[in-house]
Amino acid sequence: MALNGTRFPGASRPGLQRRPRITVRPRTVEDVAAILVNPKAHPSPVRPIGADYSITRCANTDGGTALHLDAFDKILGYDEGCVRVQAGVRVAALVRALAERGLELPLTPEIGNMSVGALAVSTLPQPSYREDCAQMAACVTEIKLVTPQGRQITVTERDRDLMRVLRSSHGLLGVVHEVSLRVEPATPVKIEYRNHTFAEFAGRYARIVESPGALRFHVAPFSDRVTVERRLRDPDESVTRSGIWQIRQSVMRNVLPAFGSSIGSVLATPGLRSAVLTGVHRALHAAQPRAARGVVMYAHEWMRELPADPAKARHAYSLWAFPQADFPKLLEDYAAFCNAHQKRYRYRCNLVTVASRLHRDRSALFSPSHAGDRVTLEPSSPGDPGFEDFLIDFNEFASNAGGTPTLNQTRALTVEQLTRALGERARLFAALRRRTDPANRMRNSYFAQLLG
Ligand SMILES: Cc1cc2nc3c(=O)[nH]c(=O)nc-3n(C[C@H](O)[C@H](O)[C@H](O)COP(=O)(O)OP(=O)(O)OC[C@H]3O[C@@H](n4cnc5c(N)ncnc54)[C@H](O)[C@@H]3O)c2cc1C
Repeated sequence: MALNGTRFPGASRPGLQRRPRITVRPRTVEDVAAILVNPKAHPSPVRPIGADYSITRCANTDGGTALHLDAFDKILGYDEGCVRVQAGVRVAALVRALAERGLELPLTPEIGNMSVGALAVSTLPQPSYREDCAQMAACVTEIKLVTPQGRQITVTERDRDLMRVLRSSHGLLGVVHEVSLRVEPATPVKIEYRNHTFAEFAGRYARIVESPGALRFHVAPFSDRVTVERRLRDPDESVTRSGIWQIRQSVMRNVLPAFGSSIGSVLATPGLRSAVLTGVHRALHAAQPRAARGVVMYAHEWMRELPADPAKARHAYSLWAFPQADFPKLLEDYAAFCNAHQKRYRYRCNLVTVASRLHRDRSALFSPSHAGDRVTLEPSSPGDPGFEDFLIDFNEFASNAGGTPTLNQTRALTVEQLTRALGERARLFAALRRRTDPANRMRNSYFAQLLG
């Protein structure tokens, strides 16, 4: 067994210390099972780690065992409408391999660093095109895992309830080693941008959300601006190679980061970080005429990669989801909240806040849009002092506004906020986790505090 054990590696990073006592990199499923059944050699909790980019303490090991899946890095095969992948494969690598075959996942995130194992069991909402497909885990059709007792099991979509639970299990119900995902023919996406004041946005909101396509909003709370990004899949749109190249250069490199589309875009583009901080609104206006014309590209072309060291990218954003119908009012309240926070604490959340429309999706127990259509709010920061405190207040604001958090993308979450949002679903999951892992082999202090 090639476990590459390391004692006391002292992984200490500000804010999110993973703190493993032992780090292991199993090569086979049998290795994984052997680790789980041997608490003496591999102390609890055993936490599966994919790419380790999560921004909460979900992957912390609290002096236990960090189980890295990076040796599970193969794309195993293509069956009808599906791809079979080992859990350590990065989404960017998978998306590129699919693109070479003229295929794509039903959803393509903007950041490709995450592992397929984490994709299957954590909450990664994306701008959605239709119901029941608003987060990455909805694309998963089959999961192979090793339970906390070292037993190998396979769960398919036929076992609907168990699949819903597993898609939200965050590595608490077992170590996933293989995943099957739905794939579709790659389809050109037309992307259009429209810039509005908050009042104009509110006036047009009903039409904006009723029209087809996936929606991403870029909100500038201090400038009274919302940019609506609409993504429309259209097999008849023609994409020329040179067109794509121009689009990549002009839109993905300049326009989207200028909108502050995601902190990942900013970090992935050298030099843009400070440009965004100082000139985001100027850039937004300058880029507008180009962006309004609309562009056509394949989804894999908007994918970016974060810095290779996860610790350098982890500071950076938080995510809540809110009822879609109330979103224009929520935006006004959010702008008032940002202004009040700045007046009181002299901290200005400088980057554009992004938001995604999520169709109702009940494919996972902790889906943020489980109860109906939702829109996220995702404040982000380049890691400046004051952001962590801002997020503590933002969490209160979000919880009072009926928001739903996530366990892997919402920073500084309290048990009260989680219970208020997930209530019965959290209780159900906690009861099932206790039955599945009575010895708490895989539970760390983060989940003990939030879920019991
Ligand atoms: C700056 C920044 C920008 C981002 N932007 C985006 C974005 O635009 N869109 C988006 O979707 N995401 C975005 N993310 C989110 C991020 O990509 C994911 O939350 C994260 O990468 C999850 O994948 P991972 O492999 O790093 O998971 P990890 O951090 O390794 O693990 C996440 C959770 O899954 C569990 N887990 C991992 N692997 C397994 C396994 N094999 N079996 C069982 N459990 C497992 C872990 O124990 C943990 O609880 C961003 C993150 C950062 C830091």
